[in-house]
Amino acid sequence: MPSLPVLVLNSGSSSIKFSAYEAGAGEPEKLFEGAVDGIGTDLGKFWIKDASGRKLADQNPALPNRAVAFQLVEGAVHSGDFPAPAAIGHRMVCGGPTVLENQLITPDLIDEMERYTAFAPLHTPIAVYIMRQALHLFPGAPNFVCLDSYFHRTIPEVVSYMPIPEEYSAMGVRRFGAHGISYESIVYQLQPQVPGKLIVAHLGNGASISAIRGGRCLDTSMGLTPTGGLVSGTRTGDIDPGVLLFILHKIAETTTNATEAANALETVVSKQSGLLGVSGLSNDMRDLREAIAQGNPKARLAVDKFVWTIQKWIGGFVAELDGLDMLVFTGGIGENDIDSRAEICAGLGALGIEIDRERNNVRGAATVSADTSRVTVRVIPPAEDLMIVNHVVRLLGE
Ligand code: ADP
Repeated sequence: MPSLPVLVLNSGSSSIKFSAYEAGAGEPEKLFEGAVDGIGTDLGKFWIKDASGRKLADQNPALPNRAVAFQLVEGAVHSGDFPAPAAIGHRMVCGGPTVLENQLITPDLIDEMERYTAFAPLHTPIAVYIMRQALHLFPGAPNFVCLDSYFHRTIPEVVSYMPIPEEYSAMGVRRFGAHGISYESIVYQLQPQVPGKLIVAHLGNGASISAIRGGRCLDTSMGLTPTGGLVSGTRTGDIDPGVLLFILHKIAETTTNATEAANALETVVSKQSGLLGVSGLSNDMRDLREAIAQGNPKARLAVDKFVWTIQKWIGGFVAELDGLDMLVFTGGIGENDIDSRAEICAGLGALGIEIDRERNNVRGAATVSADTSRVTVRVIPPAEDLMIVNHVVRLLGE
């Protein structure tokens, strides 16, 4: 099979992650990976590592905007150190109600997805910017969009439909979920023995959890946008809508401009809440654990709230799945925060979830349940880029 280098572009609200794989034959092999992080700051991060983990770049450039950030990525890809990409895969959280399948990117498709920026307001603007740049800068390579919402396309209507007036549902408002490519990659890694009743908790700066039956998504905590569901680093998660109205009325005391008020509310629920809002200290679990060790009660409350919501979702999902075979932790916290895993599982003995203290004392992939646990508890890092490469190879062959 001829060489098939595939570039993967995965943008967050203030970062662009990128990697390249050789997908010519068999399982794709990573060629390099890197990231530009801290867009909008004077002291960003730019690094590249080759397949063996050797650093090829490690800099702290000023990153005033996404254009400067993407120039660094483009420069690295065009440096001549690696084969030119034959195809490019882009991660997209949500393309709106009309773009539900992974597919070839055209300028019209980008315009259509951009119409639904409100469905992933922190992610879509930079994702569509990068798609337009990539079409322009890599004209020889087809670009494909891979959607988080693709994995959640199997959730039943009773889960996806929102209890709101029909006119808003007709505008596409419903549960789309997020982190879908991560969930897909966990199911992929569990093959060929995917448990029938599976819960995966993707606990990173953004946190979500999904119930998966027979490898297909049944329910997921994030809603229309990634703001819903679990308490996240800076996001509220699910919250009494009356709280939003209260905050909106408070904001309305300071402005009569409705767009300004809506933007101010969005900042509160997406950037100032969650672990950061409750602790008043940080959205980073490592900082919170340090503060807890020093007896900080707000940090303790923030983490307790995080743990409590996850336990409630797990309980609900076990009822929905009518049992549970396996619980998987993934994402930065799920993989690395030993205490979060222990605290979440500590309250779930009645559901047959029992963690082994010694086994749980690890970072990275492991089985951490006790021998007596009815439910297997595992830690599995996601393989999102590999999933995107697999989709690109499949779509190229169609
Ligand atoms: P993102 O959603 O931005 O991709 P990540 O999956 O990288 O986020 O997860 C970031 C979170 O993981 C942060 O809260 C960070 O504190 C936490 N984390 C990373 N490493 C550790 C660690 N060694 N111990 C505890 N928490 C960690």
